[in-house]
Amino acid sequence: MSMDFETVIGLEVHLQLKTATKIFCACANQFGEQPNSLTCPVCLGLPGTLPVLNKKVLEYGIKVGLALGCEINPYIKFDRKNYYYPDLPKAYQISQYDFPVAKNGLVMIPMEKGELKKIRVNRAHLEEDAGKLTHEADGTLVDYNRTGTPLLEIVTEADMRSPQEAYDYLQVLKLTLQYLNVSDCDMEKGSLRCDANVSIRPREETKLGTKSEIKNMNSFKAVKAALEYEVIRHTQVILSGEKIVQETRLWDDNKQMTLSMRSKEEAHDYRYFPDPDLVPFVVKADKIKEIRQSLPELPYAKLERFKNQYNLNGYDAFILVLDQTIAQFFEECVALYPEAKKIANWLNGPLLREISDRKSSLAELKLVPASLAGLIKMVEDGVVSNLVGKDVLKIMLDTGKSAEQIIQENGLAQVSDQESLTRIVDEIIKENPKAVGEIKSGKENVLGFLVGQTMKKTQGKANPKMIGEIIKRRILDA
Ligand code: ADP
Ligand code: MG
Ligand code: ZN
Repeated sequence: MSMDFETVIGLEVHLQLKTATKIFCACANQFGEQPNSLTCPVCLGLPGTLPVLNKKVLEYGIKVGLALGCEINPYIKFDRKNYYYPDLPKAYQISQYDFPVAKNGLVMIPMEKGELKKIRVNRAHLEEDAGKLTHEADGTLVDYNRTGTPLLEIVTEADMRSPQEAYDYLQVLKLTLQYLNVSDCDMEKGSLRCDANVSIRPREETKLGTKSEIKNMNSFKAVKAALEYEVIRHTQVILSGEKIVQETRLWDDNKQMTLSMRSKEEAHDYRYFPDPDLVPFVVKADKIKEIRQSLPELPYAKLERFKNQYNLNGYDAFILVLDQTIAQFFEECVALYPEAKKIANWLNGPLLREISDRKSSLAELKLVPASLAGLIKMVEDGVVSNLVGKDVLKIMLDTGKSAEQIIQENGLAQVSDQESLTRIVDEIIKENPKAVGEIKSGKENVLGFLVGQTMKKTQGKANPKMIGEIIKRRILDA
């Protein structure tokens, strides 16, 4: 029996919001501090304490919801999700059960031929993070600094059909979140965590298959690898006539495989009920409107604008938009020197290469738009060659000096006065009698070789077009 299976994936992303303080108390919301130094009776869950909602957390939740095209639920209500675990001192997590702050959104992912696919967002709800357990040989350590860190859980519909689509969804989501500046989105530090749900079904089937939920991936690449592994495992289990059991599995990045962790709880196991300590309230429509108006231009909108306004191709625009600071830098350069395509080439090529070689970021480098625009203009005006221009860029990044100053101090300007170029060309002609003979006998393509020799002698400082003309004149007119 041959069977064609379809993969079905839905993702749950837990996003730590980077507010100054925690969700229900005034403790600092920071990563990497001395364990248990950022705690108070509220986030330690001591009896008699009361939570107070951080209004910035609500604002961020609404902001993300709006950016993902969700309906915002103005009725704000929190619920208790009950379970016992050492990282959860209250033995319940404050979360939102039946009234998530946002629901019914959309994320578009790029497909082939410039098409986009819609991934529906089912809901986004606010909740508090738990503490962090570290298991050591002689016991387990607990750090409560993380308890009460604000989280937004963003849940998709099961709309993805391959691990690659899941990967693309995460990329687009992360970029959008970075534009909103509400989270570090750093999977390695745990500020963005992803649980991946996956099942397979015969291609003509409409009912969903039994899913497994995978946790513990620390990069988008690992999410993709874990999903690929699970698809193969599901297929093998089903083809061998057995059944998939619904369970939570952990990704082991060293072994590159998933391992069973526990059978999955059902919602009713958590005995959700409204948290009586946090009275429900309604967010005014004006407030939501105000947040909507504060949204920045989002990635797809910027992409379209860059293509139209600057006449860039999709690829150039896409690379620029992938980093908000690069996109802004680009626009500032164009404002100073209106050659958008040339500037995009410099940014997407030599500059991004320098940034990656230096393991740095544009923000960390001392580069100002005027410097790069000035350099590109000097290259375009023929003051320096493209090649020398790249060296100038390096010096610029090291020193913060302007292109003009660097070119002058290092004598890098192209030799373009006829007299000195002619002198150099004459030397080259004398040194290469064979090539000269060939050119005289009509082999024009040998000309390039002599141009190259001249460029070498001037250390790339000559204007190649001019050299070509001078060589021709000196040989053929001789
Ligand atoms: P749970 O109660 O197990 O957390 P949910 O219904 O809340 O399950 O869904 C969690 C995530 O799993 C969602 O992103 C959803 O789209 C996805 N999902 C649900 N069922 C399946 C399935 N059979 N196959 C793949 N993904 C699924
Ligand atoms: Mg769920
Ligand atoms: Zn606290």
